[in-house]
Amino acid sequence: MSRYRLQPSPAQEQALLVHCGHARFVWNLAVEQHAHWKPGRKSAPGFAEQCRQLTEARAEFEWLRAGSIIVQQQALKDFAQAMANFFGKTHKRPTWRKRGQGEGFRIVAVTMGDVRRLSRHVGEVRVPKVGWVRFRWSRAVPESVKSYRVTRDRAGRWHVAFAAIPEPVPAPGTGEVVGVDRGVAVSAALSTGELLSAPGLRDAENARLLRLQRKLARAKRGSNRRGKVKAAIARLKARETDRRKDWVEKTSTDLARRFDVIAVEDLKIRNMTRSAKGTISAPGKNVRQKAGLNRGILAAGWGRLVTRLEHKAPGRIQKINPRHTSQTCNACKHTAGESRERQALFLCVACGHRDNADVNAAKNVRDTAAGHAVAARGGPPLGGLANREPQRGLLLVG
Ligand SMILES: [Zn+2]
Repeated sequence: MSRYRLQPSPAQEQALLVHCGHARFVWNLAVEQHAHWKPGRKSAPGFAEQCRQLTEARAEFEWLRAGSIIVQQQALKDFAQAMANFFGKTHKRPTWRKRGQGEGFRIVAVTMGDVRRLSRHVGEVRVPKVGWVRFRWSRAVPESVKSYRVTRDRAGRWHVAFAAIPEPVPAPGTGEVVGVDRGVAVSAALSTGELLSAPGLRDAENARLLRLQRKLARAKRGSNRRGKVKAAIARLKARETDRRKDWVEKTSTDLARRFDVIAVEDLKIRNMTRSAKGTISAPGKNVRQKAGLNRGILAAGWGRLVTRLEHKAPGRIQKINPRHTSQTCNACKHTAGESRERQALFLCVACGHRDNADVNAAKNVRDTAAGHAVAARGGPPLGGLANREPQRGLLLVG
């Protein structure tokens, strides 16, 4: 986050104050909903439900509708985050916001064209429904700004803070290509033979989570105890998420620093996640099975890893069609589904080459990126992802 002094004109200041007022109104509404919640009542609405309510409120109230939906939605998002922090015991419960105290709002979906430099010390940022607002260009604004927050302190000073994606990591310049395969038994396998595992919960923590989940199932709805158990579960899950995020940051930086080109399977996780659920009129096929698969993928943090790699090594990521990568022998290029003996072991039916299945696939990904053909030779071409689907049992572990 880098903060700059915002210098709105008097008219703009009025418009910014309106945004602050809307953000405060929406936030306080959320606080109130949660304050009225008492054990025994239906649970207080979550973020999605609040967004729905916001849409209704905007339809009803002209003054709210006149404001920016981004400002209002982000206030709800901030509140959801504040509640998560509260349940995570890292922050106090979010409280009522008063006019003139800690006023501000957040704008997301910011593009490069929304920030510009006018002169050495003057920049401008585009604020929805307000227009271009000047700020003091006191240091370089990071490229690729994704969002920003506008705040007004008690002294009436305005600031804008830009949140950007991380700076690219310089390439080593060795020309080395690495293949990375999304593993199942491990989080990722490298063509160098390294097996990387994202940390999850420790055995003792997992055991505790199971105990808590059983407790939750027994606890009476709305009881005090149930609330406590829920909070404890949320804390454990947050710990797990933090560890995985941390792992993704370290791993992506490490890969971007060590290799010039990083080849990954193009799995389009997002599409897979969505298609499994289907719609009410056309429920997805193998929903249960796919739900297990998706959990596994998401737990491994694969999508996040690829995104961060793209941030840290822009232009150095190659997405490879995953077709055949797991059934092709890296030594002799023979392709056969039977070569994948078990989930973890690749044993070539043609040449007897043995390797860790994920490492073998990672090597194929690397070779494809490097321009070597990893085409089907031998057995019939095995289509798409069908054979990549791991057994459910494996996914439910960790
Ligand atoms: Zn072989």
